[in-house]
Amino acid sequence: MWGNIAIAFLLAFIVAFMATPYTIKIAEKVGAVDIPKDKRRMHKKVMPRFGGPAVILGFLVSVIYLLIVMSIEGSINLFGMDEYGKKLLGFFLGIVIITITCVIDDIKEIKPIFKLVGQLLAAIVVVSFGITIDDINVRFIEIPELGEFVQSLITILWIIGVTNAINLIDGLDGLSSGITAISAISLLIIFILNGSPAVAVVLITALTGALVGFLPFNFAPAKTFIGDTGSNFLGFAISIIAILGVAKTYTAVVIVLPIIVLGLPIFDTLWAIIRRLIKGKSIKAVFKGDKGHLHHRIVRMGFSQKQAVLILYGISASFGLFAIILFDSGIWKAMSFLLMVIVAIALGYKNFKREKSTDERFECVECKYIYNPKFGNEKAGIKPGTSFDDLPDNWVCPVCGEGKDMFELHED
Ligand SMILES: [Zn+2]
Repeated sequence: MWGNIAIAFLLAFIVAFMATPYTIKIAEKVGAVDIPKDKRRMHKKVMPRFGGPAVILGFLVSVIYLLIVMSIEGSINLFGMDEYGKKLLGFFLGIVIITITCVIDDIKEIKPIFKLVGQLLAAIVVVSFGITIDDINVRFIEIPELGEFVQSLITILWIIGVTNAINLIDGLDGLSSGITAISAISLLIIFILNGSPAVAVVLITALTGALVGFLPFNFAPAKTFIGDTGSNFLGFAISIIAILGVAKTYTAVVIVLPIIVLGLPIFDTLWAIIRRLIKGKSIKAVFKGDKGHLHHRIVRMGFSQKQAVLILYGISASFGLFAIILFDSGIWKAMSFLLMVIVAIALGYKNFKREKSTDERFECVECKYIYNPKFGNEKAGIKPGTSFDDLPDNWVCPVCGEGKDMFELHED
């Protein structure tokens, strides 16, 4: 197993590391670049956003090489009872569908609904090739016919949910790629402890390797973005590998481990949906971007982009460690770990809490109104000298009525 892990990691790493510079050149040629007119981006210059294909290439080269080697030596049987050959074919087809949809989006920016259709199609293909969350029906649903349908439905929801969750945290240099790499390492450890199938171990290792090969180009200050192609692939791949890794285990807790490992993007997305439903009072409001994601909040607290990313890496690693400890040593040790994390954050926060700066101006990304603490907002009863942080939570933009979530730090 350790030979497989070493080769899967290194091969994916080398290919992704070598391919990324080419994707930067290609991005400039085909126009897959981010021009900073988009209000939700934090960048000021034109950036290539085509790193995804390099990561996908690293992953696929490594996986296919190892599948061939392992088949020849006889350590896996792709056509045996578990039908890994069929399942992997479905997975690869899904990757092709997601990639085509998102490459078009990275170059031309298609409507979100077409992207969702692409994701749905890819998820349905994967499920119809036999990758489903097994054995849930054994515990929760008693009617077998309904069981299979519900299984497929839950699987599709899981794949699409995780794909979009990773896509949504793609807002700072190195964030979505780093968080996925950390989650993948956590899953790798869980797979090893769990005695998961060799195929799943190889897949998760290759994903980790490809991401580690890409990160040097993506960590702040980024030379390239991973793009929609990349962040969709990451969520899609990790959601499916998680299923392959925990399938056929008969410990109930194993099924919740991937949810904990991916806790940061999942909870951030759920919170965004709830927040937008409450604020917009309609389903349509859910799809409207805002500045309320966790990474926006941390930057608004006064941390730099790089610090914010490192804080989120730490949170993600804590989720991963919690899942590993829960699985390996049980609930009480996991809870004591959680307690220690909370104490550490409380202590650290006290020491690193920034001085509240009273002269920072914040700009409404919707209408460009600038809140200046020097003047306050007298009509709303805000006295001059009130910092943006101290504005009440229900304060809204006096020009367009958007909430504090739509404001970002204004720099000259
Ligand atoms: Zn406004």
